[in-house]
Amino acid sequence: MNRDTICVQGGYTPGNGEPRQIPIIQSTTFKYATSEDMGKLFDLEADGYFYSRLQNPTCDMVAKKICELEGGTAAMLTSSGQAANFFALFNLCEAGDHIVASSTIYGGTFNLISVTMAKMGITATFVDPLCTEEELNAAFQPNTKVVFGETIANPALTVLDIEKFAKAAHAHGVPLMVDNTFPTPVNCRPFEWGADIVTHSTTKYMDGHGAVLGGAIVDGGKFDWMAHAEKFPGLCTPDDSYHGITYAERFGKEGAFITKATAQLMRDFGSMQSPMNAYMLNLGLESLHVRMQRHCANGMAVAQFLENHPKVAYVNYCGLESSPYHALAQKYLPNGSCGVVSFGLAGGRQAASTFMKELKLAAIETHVADARTCCLNPASSTHRQMNDEQLAAAGVPAELVRMSCGLESAEDLIADIAQALDKV
Ligand SMILES: *Cc1c(COP(=O)(O)O)cnc(C)c1O
Repeated sequence: MNRDTICVQGGYTPGNGEPRQIPIIQSTTFKYATSEDMGKLFDLEADGYFYSRLQNPTCDMVAKKICELEGGTAAMLTSSGQAANFFALFNLCEAGDHIVASSTIYGGTFNLISVTMAKMGITATFVDPLCTEEELNAAFQPNTKVVFGETIANPALTVLDIEKFAKAAHAHGVPLMVDNTFPTPVNCRPFEWGADIVTHSTTKYMDGHGAVLGGAIVDGGKFDWMAHAEKFPGLCTPDDSYHGITYAERFGKEGAFITKATAQLMRDFGSMQSPMNAYMLNLGLESLHVRMQRHCANGMAVAQFLENHPKVAYVNYCGLESSPYHALAQKYLPNGSCGVVSFGLAGGRQAASTFMKELKLAAIETHVADARTCCLNPASSTHRQMNDEQLAAAGVPAELVRMSCGLESAEDLIADIAQALDKV
């Protein structure tokens, strides 16, 4: 089915007389006739629901839609994008392991990997997304278990060369994990370029209305865990906490990753999305393909206007021909990238602050990717824990403004930006 059709109808097909919209199964628990029935569920011998901390039917319907959109084999929802990235990484790594990650990833994920996971004994090497294959290969260690990057980085807006990263990961016997939040599967499907696991903050375009936090993990089903069994004991040796099940044996390439993350990590950490949130996320997904077109058109119009304005020093938008990521965008994002544009004001940090204060339509928010245009100065907010050197390395210098173009009229957005720039 076409992606547009999956957005509208994927994940749930009602039977005769059943609700047209997905039902909200607002129940923590599920009833069974015998203890034996329930025992089979606990042993993962039968399919079914027993407790919504692990799985819930509404969440599964929405996860299935996202899975179909990405072209994966299994998927799960999480309570946030942070939870999705943490679970996806922790599903493969334990104390003593190592991650190779792009240096320009989302500030929250950078912090998760470089600080919080380091406390768990999991170390990381960060590489410039434009590094050579040689530099990329040099980042691997014998204990490397996964490579991580963002298709379009938030807020640096770098574009990941997915094929280059996948090739290096596979040459070292590990999977490539890609956070595909910004382009969404409407504009890019990383599995088609060799990625193995895809994550999302569904809080962004997928919901699209700034209404509900959420995350998703999708497995592409192609990575052969058993072929690298010595690297992935969690998937390839018996799990004593689940009656000795070996996930990769029992559930194969298509199902092992998500089954382990659900049965083990959701059980122990409990970061499930609520059924009500999943229902609202699905309302957003129903129009994702239509909204992405307008977000991209508005992003392009704003980027072009800014590029020609004398008070703007530079504009980062991979749709512009001047972007160092334009060629990568043409390859990976031929139908558009996203609505987020970033730019530096010639007047520096102070000019950025004046500009943002004068905007009338675009609100200052720690958010991106919803229907209303918003903007942020990362150096004074999301990335304020970083020093100037780290800010530059992460691609978010002090004078940078990130603007997330919403679904308003491009003409009105540009008029608002123009009047604010006049006051700088
Ligand atoms: C926002 C974001 C996250 C974190 O998601 P939350 O839903 O806020 O937890 C992770 N990755 C990217 C690319 C994001 O934009």
